Amino acid sequence: MVDLQGQYQQIKEAVNTSIEQVLNSSAYINGPLVHEFQADLEKYLNVKHVIPCANGTDALQIAMMGLGLEQGDEVITADFTFAATVEVIALLKLTPVLVDVDAATFNIDIEALKKAITPKTKAIVPVHLFGQVANMDAVLEIAKEHNLFVIEDTAQAIGATYTFKDGTKKKAGTIGHVGTTSFFPSKNLGCYGDGGAIFTNDDELAHTIRGIVNHGMYTRYYHDVVGVNSRLDSIQAGVLKAKLPLLNDYCDARRNAAEFYSNAFADNKNIITPKIAENTTHVFHQYTLQITNGKRDDLHKHLLAQGIPNAIYYPVALHSQKAYADTRYKESDFPVTNELIKTVISLPMHTELDKEQLTFITKTILGFVG
Ligand SMILES: *Cc1c(COP(=O)(O)O)cnc(C)c1O
Repeated sequence: MVDLQGQYQQIKEAVNTSIEQVLNSSAYINGPLVHEFQADLEKYLNVKHVIPCANGTDALQIAMMGLGLEQGDEVITADFTFAATVEVIALLKLTPVLVDVDAATFNIDIEALKKAITPKTKAIVPVHLFGQVANMDAVLEIAKEHNLFVIEDTAQAIGATYTFKDGTKKKAGTIGHVGTTSFFPSKNLGCYGDGGAIFTNDDELAHTIRGIVNHGMYTRYYHDVVGVNSRLDSIQAGVLKAKLPLLNDYCDARRNAAEFYSNAFADNKNIITPKIAENTTHVFHQYTLQITNGKRDDLHKHLLAQGIPNAIYYPVALHSQKAYADTRYKESDFPVTNELIKTVISLPMHTELDKEQLTFITKTILGFVG
């Protein structure tokens, strides 16, 4: 699905130099590269505060802790996403409220979101799934009307740009009160271990969060709030600092591969190619097709047999997971997610795909789907 080795060979010198810098300084925790990467990312995203942390799941949890959400507060998020999003809501004893997604973009459905709001709702977590930004004009409008926090799960969409109705542009993750991301190796900006970050333009929230990531300390050995230990280590920061200047090129490489795929499948009536919403760029964390003739599972097996990696993101709706089932949900609330789990298939998507590979993949798929 990804070619991390091929990518490393292209950037070996820059990455090795960064890592050696850490080894020579022995500043493994909180070293200068962590601060340098933080500043570089703030500049890239045009956001006031980037707070690095240990992974994307922690980033979500810490963002929710920082906003002071309390037991019983309802937090609305999408039914069709990676479990981390809902996991941290439940872990903090907040009440997750899952809603259906939009059939064209796979992002949170605005009508379903509106219907899910109750007097207990305190926050919305739009997930910018597979690399394109959710409908943030609508999400912000609803949040404003009901006085809700907006936490953007940007684990899959770092580098994507959203254009508001008035023409203003913002980077994914810098639109709501707070945004979070993951630097897991296979993410669009990945390190060589675990990593994550939280973004905000709110000075006070940034200060609160900086304490939370460091055991709730604002003055050394004075613990004002219950915190966690969540750090991006210096070696990972070094890798990320070396890779950040290439992020835009990486996004372009992914878009080019996506365009090749979409052109190849354009005339096939059994395949729906990803639709890019008008107001967002797409950074294709995943390239996800829908196979509409009932042969998705057969295609999955056929491709594996041909040596073509592929994956089903996601095979089970979150509302159907044992851990997140809730009597409040009715199957009729989730027509889109219930369909997507049966039809979606994600193809190899990374920065090193060449024409020969893309041709082989598309020919094999067209040969099978017919
Ligand atoms: C990867 C991912 C996360 C979690 O990130 P980790 O760094 O693996 O903890 C959260 N949300 C989404 C949508 C993700 O894809």
